Amino acid sequence: MARIDLEHIRHAYGEKPKSEADYALKEVHHQWNDGGAYALLGPSGCGKTTLLNIISGLLQPSEGRILFDGKDVTNLPTQARNIAQVFQFPVVYDTMTVYDNLAFPLRNRGVPEAEIDRRVREIIEMTDLGGWARRKARGLTADQKQKISLGRGLVRNDVNAILFDEPLTVIDPHMKWQLRSQLKKLHRQFGFTMVYVTHDQTEALTFADKVVVMYDGQIVQIGTPAELFERPSHTFVGYFIGSPGMNVLPAAIDGDRVRIGEETIGLDHAPKIAAGARTELGIRPEFVRLGREGMPVSIRKVEDIGRQKIVRADFAGKPIAIVVPEDGEIPAEPRVAFDPAAINIYADSWRVGSKEAGR
Ligand code: ADP
Ligand code: MG
Repeated sequence: MARIDLEHIRHAYGEKPKSEADYALKEVHHQWNDGGAYALLGPSGCGKTTLLNIISGLLQPSEGRILFDGKDVTNLPTQARNIAQVFQFPVVYDTMTVYDNLAFPLRNRGVPEAEIDRRVREIIEMTDLGGWARRKARGLTADQKQKISLGRGLVRNDVNAILFDEPLTVIDPHMKWQLRSQLKKLHRQFGFTMVYVTHDQTEALTFADKVVVMYDGQIVQIGTPAELFERPSHTFVGYFIGSPGMNVLPAAIDGDRVRIGEETIGLDHAPKIAAGARTELGIRPEFVRLGREGMPVSIRKVEDIGRQKIVRADFAGKPIAIVVPEDGEIPAEPRVAFDPAAINIYADSWRVGSKEAGR
């Protein structure tokens, strides 16, 4: 297992990038701690696969260095990096049996047969492939083949890291849940460094100790699920994590008060912000109180989602979402109040006071 340092990584696929927009990775400078379980979360196209391929050596970055435990591996080929990588779609040898597919990475490294047998049986049990062990991979379903790929990634326990690139996309929902908890268990047992890519926030939040959020070729926030929820460092994170996402409203700061349209809201501190800077106020729909006190809103729509209701309203001329409990009353003359402790202030998309702000 290893600590992985990514130093000022940039990557453009084209030969001659003309502008920042041509870079799939703009500037990734980050450390994956030895034994950490990380989820890498971000929308499609933000650079997650590119980053994994750079770690495993399938791709050479245009700029920057990769270190494993302090040793520069930037120019080492994939085989020399000792990384297990599981892709979104199955990679199996069709003419081999399920058992031999799983044994392959171990035989390749000269592990004794008795040890191979023990480990392969463990993986077979974990992936529920028992009935198929002696069958050729050809003819199995995509779901079963993906379990083989997953098993091949997990069968070795001497790797520097395991990288998973949305590995459960083709797996059915029930099995997904089961495999995820198995992965977590294996991680606890062997303590490998694990980077798990997903665009599914629920998957990321239930799975990892630390969630790394990417947006447009950059890492925009690293935190625990609670940190990401409560203090999104970037308006994108607030919008992407949670459902519905954070409300983001154009705002003007005046000391320890903030103005939105005609309304003024008190803050629990005066944000340090340059006069005239473009500012936005972020507040989660869960922290907007709907009642008879506060500032007027006009309700456009109420969506009943079971245990809660989502109220869509106009506030100071902007659309806003409010979450109310199932039995929450909606007054005839509705008003809203914002919990000051739950307000985040952003200058140019970055939260004021977050370490990335003002970059
Ligand atoms: P993600 O895995 O987050 O969906 P990718 O790393 O696959 O994102 O892609 C990041 C960006 O790089 C996207 O704009 C994508 O179109 C581009 N890209 C990915 N692979 C290639 C490639 N082989 N050639 C050119 N552009 C690519
Ligand atoms: Mg991808």
